[in-house]
Amino acid sequence: MWTCPKCGRTFRNTGQDHYCGDPPESIEGYISGRPEEVQAALRKVDAAIKAGIPEAKERISWGMPTYWQGRILIQFAAAKRHIGLYPGPEAVEAFSGRLEGYKTSKGTIQLPYDRPLPLELIQEIAQWCAKER
Ligand SMILES: [Zn+2]
Repeated sequence: MWTCPKCGRTFRNTGQDHYCGDPPESIEGYISGRPEEVQAALRKVDAAIKAGIPEAKERISWGMPTYWQGRILIQFAAAKRHIGLYPGPEAVEAFSGRLEGYKTSKGTIQLPYDRPLPLELIQEIAQWCAKER
């Protein structure tokens, strides 16, 4: 996977030739720049986060949709086979008992496209991030 530093779009091949538009300035801009078949899942994750922390500000940071409140609360990004949720290592630790069956690494939870999204859990994790992160 390669993310174009100019437009923020993600491609399979490094240096992939593509129409290079302006970088997304909003989460909606990011989502509509992703492949069509993953946009619905991204919008669901975004809505779950928003429902949990409606007071947080939306921005793009490090090329990723970001919820912000004086600090980064939670981020997500589309990968080829999953959505990466980035709530930070403490959140992954705190929710480890409920993340069985999901691949996690330091601060990241992988939500595969071919499984139902744990939307309530995502909402709770977002709330946890606003309180504890
Ligand atoms: Zn580009």
